[in-house]
Amino acid sequence: PERTLVLVKPDGVARRLTGEVLRRIEAKGYSIVALEQRIVGADLLAQHYAEHEGKPFFQPLVDFMMSGPVVAAVVEGHRAIEGFRSLAGTTDPTTAAPGTIRGDLGRDWGTAVVQNLVHGSDSPESAAREIGLWFPRL
Ligand code: ATP
Repeated sequence: PERTLVLVKPDGVARRLTGEVLRRIEAKGYSIVALEQRIVGADLLAQHYAEHEGKPFFQPLVDFMMSGPVVAAVVEGHRAIEGFRSLAGTTDPTTAAPGTIRGDLGRDWGTAVVQNLVHGSDSPESAAREIGLWFPRL
């Protein structure tokens, strides 16, 4: 089965939505094979978001991700990468489809960075890279 890296971002943790996100993952039939809440440093985030370096929202994004604890999980299941992205919904919470995590629970606060509750790896290559970054001993 495939593995993906899921993050409950600081807005999700602060709003007490960790359980709700994990509930949806489990209800879909995926397994949580690793799970940890932690405060993240700038180095890890710069690596995690390397593809966005230089974009206007890069620094706001890193600052936001350091604004409080994050819950990191490795989620496993058949087609879990695509499957979790489908559960999460599209990036912008205003227009994300109802039924998705972002569509049901996400709010647009009008901030410099889109605070959209969760992250999920977008490809097998990203998943392998991100799981290696967040859970090097896995
Ligand atoms: P998706 O791939 O579904 O868009 P993602 O989390 O992979 O979700 P990325 O494009 O990798 O999205 O962007 C990373 C994060 O940066 C987003 O989840 C969001 O929090 C923030 N972000 C992305 N684009 C913007 C933007 N144009 N303005 C502000 N913040 C953004």
